[in-house]
Amino acid sequence: MSLNNVNGRGSEASKETEKYLIYGYLPTIGIECHVQLATKTKLFSGADNDAREAEPNSKTSPIDFALPGMLPVLNKEAVRLAVRLGLALNAKINLRSRFDRKHYFYPDLPKGYQISQFYQPIIGAGWVDAGGLKVRVEHAHLEEDAGKLTHVGGASLVDLNRAGTPLLEIVSMPDMHSAADAKAYCLELQRLAIYAGASDANLYYGNMRFDVNISVAKQGAKKLGTRAEIKNLNSFRSVERAVEYEFERQVELLEKGEKVKQETRGWSEAKGKTLPQRSKEEAQDYRYMPEPDVPPVVLSRKFVDEIKANMPLLPEKHRACWAELGLSQSVVEAILDNLILAQKLTTVIQKLGLPEGREIAKIITNWFANILLSEENAAKDFHQLEVEALIELAEMTAEKQLNSNSAKDILLKLLDGKKRPKALAEEMNLLQVSDSGELEIIVDKVLGLPESAQAVSDIKAGQMKAIGFLVGQVMKESKGKANPSVASEIIRRKIND
Ligand code: MN
Repeated sequence: MSLNNVNGRGSEASKETEKYLIYGYLPTIGIECHVQLATKTKLFSGADNDAREAEPNSKTSPIDFALPGMLPVLNKEAVRLAVRLGLALNAKINLRSRFDRKHYFYPDLPKGYQISQFYQPIIGAGWVDAGGLKVRVEHAHLEEDAGKLTHVGGASLVDLNRAGTPLLEIVSMPDMHSAADAKAYCLELQRLAIYAGASDANLYYGNMRFDVNISVAKQGAKKLGTRAEIKNLNSFRSVERAVEYEFERQVELLEKGEKVKQETRGWSEAKGKTLPQRSKEEAQDYRYMPEPDVPPVVLSRKFVDEIKANMPLLPEKHRACWAELGLSQSVVEAILDNLILAQKLTTVIQKLGLPEGREIAKIITNWFANILLSEENAAKDFHQLEVEALIELAEMTAEKQLNSNSAKDILLKLLDGKKRPKALAEEMNLLQVSDSGELEIIVDKVLGLPESAQAVSDIKAGQMKAIGFLVGQVMKESKGKANPSVASEIIRRKIND
C-alpha cells in the first residue's frame, strides 16, 4: 500500500490530515471495535446480558464460571444481530463460520481461553462511509467478553457479570490517516449499530470499545511503520486524543533515530498520554484451536434473506427520504444522531407524501432541530411523541391557528403522548382568533378609539408603517389571541374602503 494514496475526498476529515503532513509524516490507523450485541442472554449461556448497575457476579451461570462439565450453547439471537450489523457494514455474510479457542491466562477469564472466531469469522469484507471517507472492513467476528477485575488495596476482585457477553469485533483496514478520520469512523460505527438495531451502542456502559492501531511513516514511503496498539478506548474523544498523542510520540522517536516498539499501550485519560502495557502477542502465542464444544455455524440463504428483508432503515435510507426537504447538512446530521426522531420524521414524510407534505414536514423538522434537540430537551424521551399528533400540530401552525410560542408549548406537552394538540390548545387557551367575523368586531372597536385617529390618517396618507400600531391595539384588545396577519389584512381593507 502506498502512503501517497490518501483518498482525495472533500470531507472535514481530509482537511485534518493536512495538519499531519507538516511534519512530513503520515499516520496510518486501523481500528478494532468491540460492539456489545443487544441480546437478552449471553452468547453461550442463559444468564442475563444486561449487567448495568447489577451486583457483582449476580448475572452469571455455571457456563460463565467455567465450572467442570459446562457446555456452551450458541445464542441464535446473537447470530441474527451479528448478521444485521454485517449487512449494515455492506459486508459479505459467511454462510459457514466456526468458533476457536483463544488461550491466554488472566483471572477474569476462568476457562483460560476465550471463545472467539479466528479462522472462519461470520462476517467477511465490507466497508463504511465515515463522513465521506470510505473505510474498508477486513472482517468481523463473534466472541464472548471476559469478566472485570477491580483492584482494591492489595486484592483483586473478580466480577463475571460481563463474562460471556456477546461481542461483534469489527476489524477495519488501515484506511484512516488522522484523528478526525478515526473519530468519524467510530461515530459511523455507532450510528450503524444503533440503526441496525444490533446494539444499544452506549459508550458509558461499555457497549463499544475501541482498539486503535497506529503507525507513522514518511509520506510516500513504500512501507508502513511499526505499529502500536492502544487498547480499550471507551470514548470518541479519547480515540481522538490517543491518536494525536501517539502520532507525536512516534514521530519524536523516529526523529531521534530510535525505533517504535510493536507493543500494546493503554490510554490514561488523566495524564493525556499512552503508556506501555505489554509487548504485543502474535497469533501463535494464543494457541488458537477449533472450539470442540460449539458446532460450526451454518446459515441458510433463507435465514440471511429474511434478515435482509426485515432490515430497519439505515441512515442512508433516511437521508434519501429527507432529500427533497432541502435541509442543511448540520440539521440532517443532528436528527440522524437521534434514532427516534429520525424514524418519526421519515414516518411523517411517508404518511404525507412529497411534495404535498413538504410544508408540514419542514415545520416538524424545525421543531426537531431547534426545540427537541436543543440542549434543554435533547436528553428527553421522544418515544411517546405520536406522529399523528405532530402532523395535527404542524397543520394548526400552518393554518395560523397557533403562533410559534404556543406551538412550542403544546409540542413539549405532547412528549407524554397523552393528548391531542387541538384539545390541548383549547384547554391551554392558546388558539389564535383567525375568524374574520370575530376579528372585524375587534378591528371596528380599535378603529373607533380616539388614539387610533392619527394612525388611520397616516395610513390614508400612504404611510403603511402605521399599521403596526393598529395591529398592536388589536392584539391588546384580543388579549394576544388575534392572528396578526389576518388582523392587519382586515385593518387595511377597512381603511381603504
Ligand atoms: Mn476481541
